[in-house]
Amino acid sequence: MGSRLALFGGKKTIGSNPGDIFTWPIIGKEDEDAVLEVLRRGVMSGTDVTERFEIEFADWQGAKYALGFCNGTAAIHSAMHACKIGAGDEIICPSVTYWASAIQVFSLGGTVVFADIEPHSLCIDPKDIESRITDRTKAIVAVHYLGHPADMDPIMEIAEKHNLKVIEDVSHSQGGLYKGKKLGTIGDVGAMSLMSGKSFAIGEAGMLVTNDLEIYERSIAFGHYKKFNESVKTEYLKPYAGLPMGGCKYRMHQLSSALGRVQLKYYDERCEEIRKAMNYFWDLLEGVPGIKAHRTSEDSGSNMGGWYAARGIYKSEELEGLSVSRFAEAVRAEGFADCYPGCNIPLHTHLLFKSCDVYGHGKPTRIANSDHDVREFDRRLPVSSKFSSMVYAIPWFKHYRPEIIKEYADAFRKVAESYRDLLEGDGGNPENLGGWSTSR
Ligand SMILES: *Cc1c(COP(=O)(O)O)cnc(C)c1O
Repeated sequence: MGSRLALFGGKKTIGSNPGDIFTWPIIGKEDEDAVLEVLRRGVMSGTDVTERFEIEFADWQGAKYALGFCNGTAAIHSAMHACKIGAGDEIICPSVTYWASAIQVFSLGGTVVFADIEPHSLCIDPKDIESRITDRTKAIVAVHYLGHPADMDPIMEIAEKHNLKVIEDVSHSQGGLYKGKKLGTIGDVGAMSLMSGKSFAIGEAGMLVTNDLEIYERSIAFGHYKKFNESVKTEYLKPYAGLPMGGCKYRMHQLSSALGRVQLKYYDERCEEIRKAMNYFWDLLEGVPGIKAHRTSEDSGSNMGGWYAARGIYKSEELEGLSVSRFAEAVRAEGFADCYPGCNIPLHTHLLFKSCDVYGHGKPTRIANSDHDVREFDRRLPVSSKFSSMVYAIPWFKHYRPEIIKEYADAFRKVAESYRDLLEGDGGNPENLGGWSTSR
């Protein structure tokens, strides 16, 4: 047995100053100059910098069109409208995700049916989609959760068979790959957050990418009054040009797009270093009982993008039932203060999806325009329901510095290997682990 756990007065495993290993985004003079240029020219609310960013972003994505947004919520909202989701329609979305993968559908008159997640990828389980499809289903929202690509091949197959659209929520995985394909370009439309907590981090911003002209123009029509003009080619939209059909003003702030243009130049190489660092961390922990990597095998041509909000998978059964809360408490004592269990609380458990009447229909908004009670589907979400006790935060390294990374890995190893000392005094998990947003 190793040395005494820090929780019981032993020496902390993590002693080094982490320096800037966690600092993100990386901001240099080039970023500052780009932002100052917009400020000094007085074009914060203009569109010229954003248009350049859109062209560069589309090129980087390998998509025909990219459209900038004020945030990811707006981009996903527009993607839903672009996929013609309207009154009475249903989308299928994993219960384990950030709320902005789903709630916007209410304002379109539609509703959400939750599907379960896979225990290894933590993304929507393709085997749990078909039984939830009804004649009202219009789209599947595939979230590449915590950097991990969703299993797109079977999802696309199901979508094709049932004539559904696929919206990829790329907010956790910008630049990531699924079998060699860039995430966001596999489904009909990719929409994502670029807010500063994410791996592509430029303040408050969002992006929508697609190869489909009609989807692109419907997204413009919904919340981009300036761009919605005589240049629109989709016939049935033309008469309405000039005013935003969704009553939304969704364009990107140019301080963000200026920053985005600089960040994009360095993004891939920075993500590569993140993956090198994170894979090293997990390689050091391979085979340690109780903890398992949440990552793809890179041999498949897939990867973890920028490894957003990194989590590990917890196997309490390998540690005689030790709770993840007790485990994380011991890791925090070793010197990694951010080791908290859980992540996003599964959405289906929130009262907004059960009883709330948001729009005054006289019944819960979730079923306001439904011909059957979609809440029935929530009963069968076994993996989502235990998700919060299955994960814990791990350090999200931005640089490959093996000596420092090893200290953190050693902390996790020490706790896992000393788990017996923690069984006594394990108060179990509290009712609610995690939170409604990704960070604590
Ligand atoms: C952050 C996030 C969004 C929303 O993006 P904002 O830029 O915060 O509006 C949507 N989906 C997921 C999965 C997210 O994590």
